[in-house]
Amino acid sequence: MNLHGYPQSYYTATAVGMHDHPALQGAQRADVCVIGGGFTGLSAALNLAEQGMDVVLLEAERIGFGASGRNGGLIGSGQRKDALEMEKQFGFGKSRQFWDFAEAAKTEIRDRVAKHDIACDLQYGQIEGVHKKSYVGFAEEYAAALAERYDYPHARALSREETRSLVATDDFLEGLYDKQAMSIHPLNYALGLARAARDAGVRIFESSRVTRYTRSDPATVTTQEGQVEASFIVLGCNGYLGKLEPRVAGKIMPINNFMIATEPLGEECARQLIADRICVHDTRFVVNYFRTSEDYRLLFGGGENYRPGFPSDIEAFVRPYMLELFPQLSDAGIDYAWGGTLSVTVNRLPHLGRLQPNLFFAQGYSGHGVAISNFAGKIIAEAIAGTAGRFDVMASLPIHTFPGGTLLRYPGMVLGMLFFSLRDRL
Ligand SMILES: Cc1cc2nc3c(=O)[nH]c(=O)nc-3n(C[C@H](O)[C@H](O)[C@H](O)COP(=O)(O)OP(=O)(O)OC[C@H]3O[C@@H](n4cnc5c(N)ncnc54)[C@H](O)[C@@H]3O)c2cc1C
Repeated sequence: MNLHGYPQSYYTATAVGMHDHPALQGAQRADVCVIGGGFTGLSAALNLAEQGMDVVLLEAERIGFGASGRNGGLIGSGQRKDALEMEKQFGFGKSRQFWDFAEAAKTEIRDRVAKHDIACDLQYGQIEGVHKKSYVGFAEEYAAALAERYDYPHARALSREETRSLVATDDFLEGLYDKQAMSIHPLNYALGLARAARDAGVRIFESSRVTRYTRSDPATVTTQEGQVEASFIVLGCNGYLGKLEPRVAGKIMPINNFMIATEPLGEECARQLIADRICVHDTRFVVNYFRTSEDYRLLFGGGENYRPGFPSDIEAFVRPYMLELFPQLSDAGIDYAWGGTLSVTVNRLPHLGRLQPNLFFAQGYSGHGVAISNFAGKIIAEAIAGTAGRFDVMASLPIHTFPGGTLLRYPGMVLGMLFFSLRDRL
């Protein structure tokens, strides 16, 4: 069921500042044509416009229609792979650099919220709940490493009892509390970025699906009813890329992830469930993530599938994950259930690059994209303006093509995911 062209979700029901943009008709000329109106595209467009560039943004549906308007809203510290894994793979120097980039990503969001006065319910504090005996001890080791080597004194290990006092589930054996990690209402943040971009002069077009573009300079970007001639293209389509750009499609796997929102539980009950409106995720391979909303619902994400299409009954699909952690909610009504598509890479590191001198892309944030996609947009804008230092470092991350490319990636992924989620339960 659609609400003004958006999927029905808790976020669309509580959206602030929805604005209808026209569809592209006829010919336009711009310095940069951004394709995709999620965080990647919006952030690139806004940062470019602030540098004085003339920008057109084309969105196939609505602003924030994709993962950016549907996600858990959790803004974790670091990259999708934790800093210790990054150290093993790349050495401390590089790991530290990627950590610092992720901190800059958090800063970008905090600064945007403040600068543009975006009402997106920004909250501080996050707990990673450890669900498996063999992971116990990690929180202490990680918090110590962050304090000693990453100048990040904001994380600390919590005992089982401390964790239980903050999150009312018996599932967690210990926790890692990060007081500088955050959460937001993601759709309202996207709508706020769009407002800021409009104010900065970006011409935004919705219902304007790009069907092709030329590999020339300048490039011509074509939609059903219009064309944009631009010196640069920024591709920010992520899990919704489809067949638009075969040169990068095989590097990502679109996967679907699902969320529910309970009925309002009342302030007291919500605060007993999760203290201080912190957000939470666990250590499962198919991660559960949750937080309470401004109106004291539990917003809970859990479960995913690896094929085009959502389960016919998303509520029935996600609710068991919620009840496994919170059996006390067995009588709580579910008001909203929705899904979205994100994209993952083989090694779960983000995929940024330049396909030709005037075509930049970013995708594959692997479930950790709220902050990193905003950072990707920012550093693409830096690169287009002539300072490619941070962009080049992010683009140097090694991203392999999925075995079998776009044709055969799904069966391999299903097997792999089944293996890991089974291992989680053992
Ligand atoms: C249910 C769910 C929960 C998640 N939870 C979290 C979380 O808690 N924390 C976290 O860090 N990450 C989370 N993620 C991931 C995060 O949402 C994404 O990494 C991030 O939003 C990616 O932003 P994006 O702009 O790259 O992509 P999207 O937001 O998906 O935007 C891509 C846009 O491109 C448009 N588009 C596609 N093709 C075309 C075309 N041909 N022409 C024009 N426009 C086109 C689409 O319509 C879409 O609006 C979650 C994702 C999902 C689905």
